[in-house]
Order: sequence, then C-alpha cells, then structure tokens
Amino acid sequence: MRIIEATLFALRIPFIEAFAHSIKSRTYSDSIVVRLKASDGTVGYGEAVARPYVTGETVESCLEFMADTLWVAVRQADYSTAPLDLESSLDWLKAMAATLPAETSDTVIAWNAARTGFELALVDCLLKSQQRSLGELLPPQRSLITYSGVITSSTVESAAKNAKRFKQLGISQLKVKVTGENDRDRIAAIREAVGDDLSLRMDGNGVYSVQSAIAACQTLAEFKIDSAEQMISRGDPADLAAVRSASPIPQMADESLITLEDAQALIAAKACQFFNLRISKCGGLAHTIAIAQLAQASGIQLQVGCQVGETAILSAAGRHLAAWLPEVVFAEGSYGTLLLSEDVSRTSIHFGHRGQAKVLTRPGLGVDVKDAVLEKYAHQTINLATASVPGLG
Ligand SMILES: [Mg+2]
Repeated sequence: MRIIEATLFALRIPFIEAFAHSIKSRTYSDSIVVRLKASDGTVGYGEAVARPYVTGETVESCLEFMADTLWVAVRQADYSTAPLDLESSLDWLKAMAATLPAETSDTVIAWNAARTGFELALVDCLLKSQQRSLGELLPPQRSLITYSGVITSSTVESAAKNAKRFKQLGISQLKVKVTGENDRDRIAAIREAVGDDLSLRMDGNGVYSVQSAIAACQTLAEFKIDSAEQMISRGDPADLAAVRSASPIPQMADESLITLEDAQALIAAKACQFFNLRISKCGGLAHTIAIAQLAQASGIQLQVGCQVGETAILSAAGRHLAAWLPEVVFAEGSYGTLLLSEDVSRTSIHFGHRGQAKVLTRPGLGVDVKDAVLEKYAHQTINLATASVPGLG
C-alpha cells in the first residue's frame, strides 16, 4: 500500500485559560495535525507539537521539514512490504518509523515533533486499513490510566485555589510549575490546600542554576515533593548528576531527554531517577519506546508526559503508551476540552473523576477526528499529493 496524499493543518485552538510556566505563557494550541490518505482510501491522523526551546523546531520549520523531507520519503515508500504481525508488533512500529528520515540540521537537536506527526499518522492510517487498534500492538497492562493535574506558574492565591479544585475532582497527583520566585510560599500554600496524601511534584523547565536547584530542592523537600523535573537547563549530564547527588528530592529529566543518545548519556552519568517520556519530544512511538526500554533496563522510573495544548490525537498515543508500559509512575495529558475551547475528536477523550481515563480500543489510535474542526482552526493548510509530484503518479 502507498500513501497518496498528505495534508498539514497548522492549528490555533484557543485555550479556555492561559497556561504559564517559567519559560512561556500560552493562550492557544499550536499543534500541527498531519492527515495521510492511503491508496485504499483510508485516512490517518498524527500530531506534532513544535517547541523551539525543546527540540529547536518551530511551527514554520516543522512544516517545511514535513513537506520537503518527510513527505518526499513517505510518498516513495511501499507500506505493503511491512505486513502487520502482532507477534512482532514492535518491529512493525520500528519499520514504520524507519521510513522517516532521521536527519538533523544546525537549527534543531532533532526533527522529533515533525517525525511524530508523520509516524502517528502512518500508524493510524495503516492500522485503520486493517481494522486494528494500536492497543493490539501495544497490549494494555491496565484498563485505567490515572492522570495528574498541573498548577501553572501563578500567584500563591490562585495556585492554592487551583490545587483545591483539583483535589475536589479527586485528583491524587499534582505537578507544580516552579520559577525560582515565591516557590516556597506557593508550594507551602498548595500543600496546605491539598493535605498530606496527595502526591506533589515540581517542574522548573530549566530555570535554575546547579546551585539554586540544589538550594530549592533542599528548601522544598519538607513539603514532600516526589520528583523535581528539569530544574536546570539541558546541558552536561554531569551538572544534573551534581543536583541529584545533593538533592533530597529525586530528579527527573525532561528537556535533557530528547534522543536515545541523551538517554544513554543521562544513565551513564547517573544524572536522574526519572525520565519524562513525551512522544512528540522523543520523536514518535518507536523512538519513545526505545528510550523507555533502556530506562526500564537501567532502573529509571517513568512519567508519560504530554505537550500543553495537545489535541486528542497525541493524547490518544500517550494513553496507549501509558497503558502498555510495564511500570508508569506518573501520567500527564488528556486535558482535551478541560484546556482547549474545542478538541478535534468526535468523542471526548479527556480524563474524568480522579483523573482517570479508559484505554482506547477503536481502530488506529482510537480517535475519530473531525475534519471540520481542523479546517476551522487551521491558520495554514498545506496539501501535498503524489499526483502533484513530477515522475510519480
Ligand atoms: Mg517538563
């Protein structure tokens, strides 16, 4: 089977309220949805979230790499040569991913968001054409996923108010964005608002120096923090190892963990106790699974994270991954219309009471995408078809 058509939708879906952390405040989702059409008429959807401060990709450069490089490779590949075999499903996923060029450039660490958009669309399309669910390839180890709430970098008062609201929803795990300003007051107010039983962790998005990260972890440990994510910026894993060895709070790598080589270097340096796996950041399902397997063999614990503002498509992929991995300590995402004014899926996928959501079982990624929503929120739409490429028909 061949892929005969690709459409790239660069979206701007407004948020219900702004989301802020130490680096960026956002008011809308800027996902790129990739729609692929196969020669048998099946359509599949993938999603890329470009983050300049994570992989170096921007929406513009991502669209360009998709059109000029990924589409050129995908339109030439013959996907009937990789028949789906449930016994070797990871090999099938790897074979899909291997049709996407892994080249890099001076402007990016990796084209991971762009690759994810195409990989997920391929997986969705090829599985749908055989009426198979991704859950058959990645059989779930659990039927419910429990998601965390997140407290953005806001005032002490609104942080405490939001924490209380999450507690009323039955949420049992919260992640707090910390900024180096007012951390102690905010975390103290949140702990006071939710009581002792709720699991709290924090994320610095790289805003601290080694010394200030150590100081913050030592000061905040009294509030029972289960992990400190990316306190210092991406750099030499030895720096993160220095924070880890002096911190009473376990360290989690996020922006420091983009490629498999990053994972190997972090493990070799004993830099952290946790990895935050995010599919769009790590380059798609096959790459993320390779990192997860390396982590689990090395005693690193896992969080399945998300992209703020992701739509149901990336949330669904994250749900399958979180359900399949043998051990997941924390899961994030699946906010859907709790954050977006409108999601792309026909049926809601956001988590419910207690932060819980069921595994997805429908064909492909399990999401029924509404083209009308893509068209409504796209500020740029790029149509690519085999017929328009000279020499290919
Ligand atoms: Mg993070």
